[in-house]
Amino acid sequence: MMDLAKMEDGFRLILEGMGEDVHREGLIDTPRRVAKMYQELLVGLTDGVNEDDLLSTQFTEAYDEMILLKDIPFVSMCEHHFLPFIGKAHVAYIPNDRIVGLSKLARTVDYYAKRPQVQERMTRQIAELIQKQLNPKGVAVVVEATHSCMTVRGVKKQGSVMFTSQLLGLFKRSEKTRAEFMALIHG
Ligand SMILES: [Zn+2]
Repeated sequence: MMDLAKMEDGFRLILEGMGEDVHREGLIDTPRRVAKMYQELLVGLTDGVNEDDLLSTQFTEAYDEMILLKDIPFVSMCEHHFLPFIGKAHVAYIPNDRIVGLSKLARTVDYYAKRPQVQERMTRQIAELIQKQLNPKGVAVVVEATHSCMTVRGVKKQGSVMFTSQLLGLFKRSEKTRAEFMALIHG
């Protein structure tokens, strides 16, 4: 459980540190709103979901071609700057007799997004969970995101997009499989 009162106190201190008058009308409720906002954006810290349960509902199916869920939108939080990074994930696997519902793949992306994160780790965590839970012949995860910490501060590179990928099994070994995946996500 998050300590909202503590978060409110903390943000009030930040405002005071900025030299702001925390009692003026526009700011009086801001610490409470900010605490609620973080609670929502970082719900993965408190929702009590166990990562091993995310993909536990599986079905036996003799399908052995690529399954791809493309353009899964997400919002995550850069743990270095506490500014959001926003983008989409593409998740594919080649089953080994076991499949999961597509919505479970989307939930897995959200599970890892809704916490203080770095994009590289999130990409790897999604791929590794699918590998561990489904033992498929291959897993591919590509994440593309715009980082507020790059677009609104620092180098201010508007429109720059960061790509990360984690390829396992057939996607790593077979150039043909990888090419098929890349063509599908960019098509
Ligand atoms: Zn950052």
